[in-house]
Order: sequence, then structure tokens, then C-alpha cells
Amino acid sequence: MTESVIQLRCDCNQYPWGRVGKHSLAARLAANIPGGGFKLDEDTNYAEMWMGTYPELPSYVLKTGENLQDVLNANKEKLIGKKVLDKFGSDLPFLPKILSIQKALPLQIHPNKELSEKLHKEDPEKYSDPNHKPEIAVALSDFEAFCGFKPKTDIQGLLELEPLQQFNPDKSRWSDNTLREVCRSMLTASEDTVASTLKKLGDTSRGTLGEQAYILDLIPRLINQYGASDNGNLVALILMNFLTFKPGESIWIPADGIHAYLSGDIVECMARSNNVINTGFCPAADRDNVDMFCGALTFQQHDAKKPLLPRVESEKSSSGKTQALKPPMSEFNMLVTELKTGESDQIKAVEGPSVAFMTSGKGKMKAEGKEHDISAGYIYYIGCGVEVSYESSSDDFALYRAYAE
Ligand SMILES: [Zn+2]
Repeated sequence: MTESVIQLRCDCNQYPWGRVGKHSLAARLAANIPGGGFKLDEDTNYAEMWMGTYPELPSYVLKTGENLQDVLNANKEKLIGKKVLDKFGSDLPFLPKILSIQKALPLQIHPNKELSEKLHKEDPEKYSDPNHKPEIAVALSDFEAFCGFKPKTDIQGLLELEPLQQFNPDKSRWSDNTLREVCRSMLTASEDTVASTLKKLGDTSRGTLGEQAYILDLIPRLINQYGASDNGNLVALILMNFLTFKPGESIWIPADGIHAYLSGDIVECMARSNNVINTGFCPAADRDNVDMFCGALTFQQHDAKKPLLPRVESEKSSSGKTQALKPPMSEFNMLVTELKTGESDQIKAVEGPSVAFMTSGKGKMKAEGKEHDISAGYIYYIGCGVEVSYESSSDDFALYRAYAE
């Protein structure tokens, strides 16, 4: 009989923005998975470890080597449960990842459901899913990201500077659509224009930039990463919020929200989809059509500088040491359990599928009368309706568990 608690083997992809060798947390965690399937190479960039059933980088049952999705398909009622089967079918509706970011990810948005359906129909090879992909990110280290658009007054102030006036539209008719046009003109500017604008902007005094003087520190960093003529430099620095997060802080990126992560180790979790429209911070050949990108953008400006996703009490935790992240979408929530040596927590049954993974520390997990070792890098699928308890034997026990119900 198939057990409901299944230890997994997961792998990392090797995008060039990933951290190198053992500097990549994603790679270190993958190398900790017992069985030795993952060989950490010191010269390879390791960007993301994926823990789910997405076909591009699926997870396998550690003991048998079976593809996890095949096991789920053969045991739908038991492992996924009727409620989630009715809602999402038998594919896992979420995909958790560990990201280790050395340099900026492409400037991107994930199209909403409507556009995803259309793109998938027109070009299924490139847009592999008809689904949207809102995502959350939890900082495991200091984490820097460009997210969403700055408040309008901040953008307008910058566009009055001499080097940026060429992108400045008629202020009396400013609307969301104006921002779309400013974004489009920055993304279609010639390489020479981008480079000379950045150069002149870099010569602006700190006093003139005021609260946005951080731009001066970021210009050389970004030029170092993708060169002076990358259009993403202008959009990120002038139009987008630059946010820094401490370990443990989380954000939520809605479908259509513009973002580019810049550095750090994070837990990411998203609705099941791999659709992305890229532009900027990537080779020109990888850039998607600027019109499509601008057309799909949501122009919500953030007044709050940090779109934090708060941790809230979870009704599933008996000791209160497990908290929940509940982004405003139906595909998943995430439980976060942090324990010191000797502490424990008992978690009520989840009425759907879940994937639990340790990012640091060690201890034991009990479920269905069995005891399992857990340690940084260990990943378990936990089936529907199973109560589990955790006990820590270190002070840095951190366990994340994405679930749907
Ligand atoms: Zn993204």
C-alpha cells in the first residue's frame, strides 16, 4: 500500500543568474538530500530547486525513483483528496522552489488567466500553461528585489531630471496609460540612448535625487550585470520600487505584477504555471515582444513601499509555533514552523496535498505511527488528511510546507 508520507528527490536548474557551487543555497540543500543523487559542482550556477510535479523539473520518490506525479495519479483520492481533485484536478496546483540569486532575474511578468489562455492557444510550446502564476517569496537571507511601480509622484519627480525628460509625457494628462507609454518608451529606446541616459543619471548629485539616491549605488551594479545598454536598467531604476527584505519577511506578487529579483536566497511558491513574459536583464533574443509586455502590465502603484505578506496564526498548529502565509489566491497557502532545540508542534490534518521541506536545522517528524528523520534539504510529500508532529533537535529548525485544500 502506498504511504501518505513520501520522501522526495528534487533537482536544481542552472540558469546563469544562479549562485555558483556551494554559494548556492539551492544546491547545498539539494546536495543534502540523502542518497547522493545530486553532485554539487563548484563551477556551476545553481539557480532554482523545484519541489513539485511540473514536468520540466519533476520530483521523484526517493525510495523507488518513481515520478511523483505518476504516484499521485495512481492514488488520487488518498494522496490528493476529493476536495482538491474537484477544484484543481490531479496535477499539484502549486510549485515551491528555493532560489539562490547572484544577479538580476529577467524583468518579468506572469500573464493573468485570460492572457495565459490566449498565449497558450497561439504558442503552446513557449507558453506551456493556460494558467496564471501569482507567486510569493520568503527571504531566507537579505533579499533585494524590484517589485511593482513606484508612487506616481516619485516617478514624475525623476522624469523632470534633464537626462530623463525625453521620456516625460504631458503631466496634465497623467493616467495609468501614461505609465504604460513611459514604460514602453524606455523599453524601446536604442542601446545608445539607454547607455548615455544612465551615464548622465549617474552624474546627478545625491542631494538632487533625495530619497531616491540609492539609484546611484545601483547603476554600477546593474551595468556590471547586464551592461550599460540593457533597457531593463531604466525601467527598474526609474519606474519600479527597489525593496530590501530581512530573513523571514515575505512578499506576494499578483498575476501581471512587474518584478525582477536582484539578490539573495528565497523560498518561492507559485500557482502551477511556467508562463513568463521577459524583457530586460536578459539577452535581446530572449526578450518577449515589448507591446505584449506593456499590454499585460497591471499599473497598480504601491504607496506602501513594502508589499509585505504577513505571517498569521495558523489554526492547524497546536503550540502556535507554526504560522501561515495566506496569499489572496486559492491555489496554495504555506505553513512555516520554526523551533528551538527540544521544542515541538503538532499540525492538524491538511485536507489536500502538501509538500514540506527543511531549509535549516534538524529533528524528527511523526506521521501515521512512523518516525522520519528531517534535516536541511529533506523534502516530503504529505498526503491528504494526515496529522503530523515535528520535534526539533537544533535551534535553527525551519520547515516550510506548501499546501492546498
Ligand atoms: Zn516571477
